[in-house]
Amino acid sequence: MTATPAFNPPTRVLMGPGPSGANPRVLRAMTAPLLGHLDPEFLRIMDDCRDMLRQVLRTSNQVTLATPGTGTSGMEAAVMNLVAPGDRVVSGICGYFGERIAQMAERAGGVVTRVNAAWGSPVDPAAIEAAVKNAGGPVKLVSMVHAETSTGVQTPVEPISRIAHENGALLLVDCVTSLGGVPVEADAWGADAVYSGTQKCLSAPPGVAPITISPAGWDAVRAREVPSNTWYLDMQLLEAYWNDTRTYHHTAPISMVYALHEALALVLEEGLENRWARHERNGRALQVGLEAMGLVLHADAGYRLPVLTTVRIPEGVNDAEVRGALLKRHGIEVGGGLGDLRAKVWRIGLMGESSSPGNVLLCLSALGRILREQGFKADVRAAVSAAEGRLS
Ligand SMILES: *Cc1c(COP(=O)(O)O)cnc(C)c1O
Repeated sequence: MTATPAFNPPTRVLMGPGPSGANPRVLRAMTAPLLGHLDPEFLRIMDDCRDMLRQVLRTSNQVTLATPGTGTSGMEAAVMNLVAPGDRVVSGICGYFGERIAQMAERAGGVVTRVNAAWGSPVDPAAIEAAVKNAGGPVKLVSMVHAETSTGVQTPVEPISRIAHENGALLLVDCVTSLGGVPVEADAWGADAVYSGTQKCLSAPPGVAPITISPAGWDAVRAREVPSNTWYLDMQLLEAYWNDTRTYHHTAPISMVYALHEALALVLEEGLENRWARHERNGRALQVGLEAMGLVLHADAGYRLPVLTTVRIPEGVNDAEVRGALLKRHGIEVGGGLGDLRAKVWRIGLMGESSSPGNVLLCLSALGRILREQGFKADVRAAVSAAEGRLS
């Protein structure tokens, strides 16, 4: 007999920037028997996923599927297929993920103009417009992040969509953190590429990435003179597996597709509007609670996401000690700051299953007590009472 390492992942309260807590029905779905990836029963499950993805993304786009891989695979599929060498791209950037898109566009051979906003503010449509007009020629693609998980900021899509289309450009929108938590309207926005992930507001494990491409976006993908330099995430090959052609491309991550199926079913059973309202209510309750405690929210008022809140770490408080105590004593995971915001903010997620009144109150009381031990005079009572007021 060989001794093997113990395997005992503890139960956590996942209130970071993702993954969020998975619904038990999603986890149970992953224990269903494996099917062959071309088994008619599995193909039916894929078709149902496609159908439900269209409903959740609010689109009638034919090209709607899930790429194998986490949210970044959806980003890479969108960027690498739409951007050909020499194409002009204008990238709206107000945090870490907007910059990631710009870097990918450069790897695809794109000529990228970055439109930067302060980390905590949304992208300014007027600055996008100026960049598009001054790009030195026609712009192929404007990119933006709907919900910037590094800063907790939501950038409104419509004004940027209008500018892109008035100037003959396509619009790419990262909805990794927004889908299933705040309104995403792929068709009403006029977005040409929208992608997401499973472990944020869809509350499934990380592993596949929903993506949809508009008819105009699809024309651009097919009109490329050189094939995109990703084979695995080539959207034309992926589409030929997801549509009735069923041409083998990769072995679908069967259990993750099961998880996606159940996660989407849960979203539709709750109802998109109800789900958005739940995220809004809980997120705002957390935010008024944090302020009542005496803390300062980082993102600009009016652009704060309900699903991811950035709060400034007070002077003299130790970032690692506070997050360590939250995890060790209460099993609560919250995120630290990325890039310029490292050790300056905490990122508290209320996504999918994790977005509950109980988690709001648990987080406020646990964080408040730990902050008091650190010498910060957190008003825990005021925090809980303000949050309860917003929740009722
Ligand atoms: C999490 C996230 C990603 C990347 O997704 P992964 O699943 O980590 O690959 C991309 N964009 C945004 C806005 C995100 O929040």
